[in-house]
Amino acid sequence: MGISRRDFLKAGLSASAVSALAPSTTQAEPQTKYIPVNVRYKSLSNPISDLKESYDILVIGSGYGGAVMSARLAEGRSLAILERGAERAPGSFVETFKGFLKDLRSKLKPLGLFELHPNHEMDVVTGNGLGGTSLINAGATVEPDEDVFRDGHWPSELVDDVRSGEFQKYYARVKRTLQAQSYDPARMRSAKVDVHKLATEKLHQKFEYAPIAVNLYGQKQVLGVEQPKCIQCGNCCAGCNTGAKNTLNMNYLPLAKYHGAEVYTCMEVDHIEKLSDGRYRVHCDYHYDGKKKTRKVIEANTVIVAAGTMGSTRLMMKSRRYGLSLSNQLGQRFSGNGDVLGLSFNTDYKTNAIGFDSASEVRVDMRPGAVIYGVADYRPGRKISERFIIEEGTFPGALTIPLRMAMATAKLKISRWRALRVLRDVTLSKDIEKGALNHSMVYLGMGHDRADGQLILDRKDRVRVHWPHVMSDPVFPMIDREMKRQSQVLGGNFVMNPRTLIVSGKNLVTVHPLGGCVMGDTAEYGVVNHLGQVFTENGELHQGLYIMDGSVVPTALGVNPLLTIASLAERAAERIRHLC
Ligand SMILES: Cc1cc2nc3c(=O)[nH]c(=O)nc-3n(C[C@H](O)[C@H](O)[C@H](O)COP(=O)(O)OP(=O)(O)OC[C@H]3O[C@@H](n4cnc5c(N)ncnc54)[C@H](O)[C@@H]3O)c2cc1C
Ligand code: SF4
Repeated sequence: MGISRRDFLKAGLSASAVSALAPSTTQAEPQTKYIPVNVRYKSLSNPISDLKESYDILVIGSGYGGAVMSARLAEGRSLAILERGAERAPGSFVETFKGFLKDLRSKLKPLGLFELHPNHEMDVVTGNGLGGTSLINAGATVEPDEDVFRDGHWPSELVDDVRSGEFQKYYARVKRTLQAQSYDPARMRSAKVDVHKLATEKLHQKFEYAPIAVNLYGQKQVLGVEQPKCIQCGNCCAGCNTGAKNTLNMNYLPLAKYHGAEVYTCMEVDHIEKLSDGRYRVHCDYHYDGKKKTRKVIEANTVIVAAGTMGSTRLMMKSRRYGLSLSNQLGQRFSGNGDVLGLSFNTDYKTNAIGFDSASEVRVDMRPGAVIYGVADYRPGRKISERFIIEEGTFPGALTIPLRMAMATAKLKISRWRALRVLRDVTLSKDIEKGALNHSMVYLGMGHDRADGQLILDRKDRVRVHWPHVMSDPVFPMIDREMKRQSQVLGGNFVMNPRTLIVSGKNLVTVHPLGGCVMGDTAEYGVVNHLGQVFTENGELHQGLYIMDGSVVPTALGVNPLLTIASLAERAAERIRHLC
């Protein structure tokens, strides 16, 4: 009987054994062709020739904050959304590593979908496009614990709403609009979530299926948006090519459009100026052919800044430079939401956790599933600082090559030329089912960091995380330890923070940046009040200027944040409607 690749990798590599693993020694498996679904996607963007000089409301950014505010405020008003990224239709997302590298946002590529903010202590990943980071997220909609809002940093009006149960009605509204559904083992199969459940139960912890914004079983087709059912390809975080993921351009943004909103993409706002009559002038760069830009200036009675934690903080810092009066809390209370990434390499269980692309011929039973299905819940019965969750994920198909390479060279401590041979054998083989990576788990943990990081602008006007003492926060080793236990139960090799394998350094990574323009009772504690209305430096409120996105969240949430961000926006929109 031949040695399997994963047993072999487990035992350690040798050159002769690598050649013994040539694809010819493996048995051919029956193949089933994956047929991509053709969706008729209706574009939401207006041509730039429609852009007017003045609006009632301008919304900057089209992530959860911006999309919700636009959908709820557009009716009966002139409202334009200014989004710096491009509109992406299903079928246009990258599926290869080369494609991924080409789609990284940079100065030369302002429309790149993936934005990586490298920092000294904690890197940040965000999305750039119509629909914001929903285009590349996993869509898990998880409610935070109620007492997270009682830690003293949240404004008292909001705390009262949470305490009375009033705030929770917005969770239900958001989940309904995003059509969130949970994995049901009676209706579909996914090996990675079964393995995650098994390990969690072996460790006697609570396990549950998270609602995710994905069309898992067939859903209502609303506002003429056609969405097929999810095919479980596992590529949600590289962008959904079938259209099954309930990204914001499938729900809230079409709703905004239905109510008359205009949508302008490739419009990067540089700064906001307050005029003497109390209106606002917004200065933007229009990236008209992906590289070249031209300046546009638009005025509005009301401006809602929803450019995300990194984008809104940067925009407000630049606006302050142009004279906008703001609280000196700007840039404070940055949190990475206690994010910890981990990997359990080459476990004893087949996980099928590798995403596949639309050209692949794959076995039906190897479909990994949407990125997140399950949650190991370490919250019940613990004090807040000791609560966390661990979710299982999938490796986007586009990232498996560097991941394999990194695993082979770093974890198993072999030379790069030998790793190249492993890479050749493993990646060129059509049968990756027995591979070590197909027996691995990827984990994302979230807990309660101290939210005492700082966002600053560097000399090139890039927003940077400054958080020198972050590594001393006990939340990170606590989650790491538990991920390691999860990994050991499965017989895998635990890899802490796989990012360090691919790029050197010990940086943490967050995909859930929060804070920078936080809510507070007064300007002494926050940049905005409980509705997102912006404080001046001396504590008054700017009429008609709001911030509403992840940047207003003043603490870690300990769970995936999109549901909280969207619910804060639903609440604010309901209460400021009569003011705009
Ligand atoms: C890989 C990955 C997986 C994730 N999975 C989940 C998950 O499962 N569940 C969950 O809850 N969260 C998840 N998240 C995080 C979640 O998507 C974000 O917390 C959420 O999108 C933040 O919403 P937002 O409105 O604050 O900002 P964003 O969604 O980031 O939107 C901000 C928008 O503003 C635009 N913008 C920025 N600057 C400007 C400017 N100057 N002018 C014009 N426009 C501008 C940006 O292009 C972007 O479109 C994930 C994130 C990543 C990266
Ligand atoms: S797994 Fe994710 S990317 Fe694949 S079809 Fe389903 S939602 Fe889309």
